[in-house]
Amino acid sequence: MLVSPRVAAKLESLGVELQRGVSLSTRTSLEIGGATDELILRRYDHVAEVMALLANERIPWRFLGGGTNVLIGDGELSWVALHLAGAKPGMRVEGNFACVDASADLGATVTFCARHDLGGMEGLIGVPGSVGGALRMNAGAYGTQIGPLVREVELYRAAAGKVEKLRGSDICFDYRHASFAPSDVMLGVKLELPSKPYKEIVAGIRMCNEKRRASQPLNQRSAGCIFKNPPGGSAGRMIDELGLKRFRVGDAMVSDRHANFFVNAGHATCADMLGLMDAVRERVRSAYGVELENEVIVWQN
Ligand SMILES: Cc1cc2nc3c(=O)[nH]c(=O)nc-3n(C[C@H](O)[C@H](O)[C@H](O)COP(=O)(O)OP(=O)(O)OC[C@H]3O[C@@H](n4cnc5c(N)ncnc54)[C@H](O)[C@@H]3O)c2cc1C
Repeated sequence: MLVSPRVAAKLESLGVELQRGVSLSTRTSLEIGGATDELILRRYDHVAEVMALLANERIPWRFLGGGTNVLIGDGELSWVALHLAGAKPGMRVEGNFACVDASADLGATVTFCARHDLGGMEGLIGVPGSVGGALRMNAGAYGTQIGPLVREVELYRAAAGKVEKLRGSDICFDYRHASFAPSDVMLGVKLELPSKPYKEIVAGIRMCNEKRRASQPLNQRSAGCIFKNPPGGSAGRMIDELGLKRFRVGDAMVSDRHANFFVNAGHATCADMLGLMDAVRERVRSAYGVELENEVIVWQN
C-alpha cells in the first residue's frame, strides 16, 4: 500500500480525496494503464503541504492532467497519480488577459475566451486535455502554440517548497516542451490574447475542427501524435511511406487515417504499444536514418 491509513488521514485533512486502486486506463485517452492510488487535490491553498507530505513520506508520484498524452505501464504501479479536481475550474477575463486554472479543459478555455472576444487560440480548439498539460507540453496545432500567449504561470515548485509565480518571459517554450522542472505542478495561467470579433474566432475554430476531422482518427483511442516530427520532416509521412498504416503489435495499431497516431484497437497493453513504437522506430531508422523521439510521455513502473 503506497499511502498508509495514517498518511491518508493527513491528506484528507488537507482537502485531498484518496481513491484506492484506480485503473488508470479509465483516466487516459489510450485506455491503457495499470492500477494505483489516485490523489485528487481539491484545495489549491494546501498544495505545498500536500507535496511536502508526499516528499517526507517518500511516496513517488506522477501528475496526471487529462491523460491525453501519456502511455502508462501495465499492472500494479509503484507511484501514486496526482490530479487537480476538475469541477468548475476558475476562468476569468481582465481586458486582454485570461486567467485560467490549470485543471480547466483547454477546448473550453478557447471557447470561453472567444465569448469574450479574445482570439489567438483557435488552432488549439481540438487539442484535448487540461490547461496544465498544455503548458507542460507547449501544446500546439495549426500554427498556434500556447507558449507565446503565456504571461504568467502560478505553480508549486518543489525546489522552493512553495507556490510561486513565473513570468512567461522566464519560461522557455520549445516544440512540445517547456522549461518547467519535472516536479513543478502548474496551478494556473495568465494568457494575453488579441481582441477579435466572436464571429471571426468561431469561423477559425470551425476551420480547425474540419481540418482535424478530415485527417485524424478522432473516434479511436489514441494519444494524438506518438512521435515528434524530426526537424524539417514529418514522422507521419515517413511511417505512411513505409506502408505501415494498420501495422500492429498485439492490439496496438498504426491508424489507417493518420500514420503518427497509434491507436488502441482492442485491449492493447502498454507492452503492445511500446512494442509497436519500437518496431516502427526501427523501420524508420533503417529506411531514413532518422531516430524518432517520443511525443507521448511514457510512465512505466
Ligand atoms: C486525439 C488527440 C489529438 C491531439 N492533438 C494534439 C495537437 O494537435 N497538438 C498537441 O500539442 N497535442 C495534441 N494531443 C496531445 C495532448 O492532447 C496534449 O499534449 C495535451 O496538452 C496534454 O494535456 P493533458 O492534460 O491531457 O496532459 P496529460 O496527458 O495528463 O499529461 C501530459 C504531461 O503534462 C503533465 N501535466 C499535466 N497537468 C499538469 C499540471 N497541472 N502540472 C504539471 N504537469 C502537468 C503530466 O505530468 C505529463 O508530463 C492530442 C491528443 C489526442 C488524444
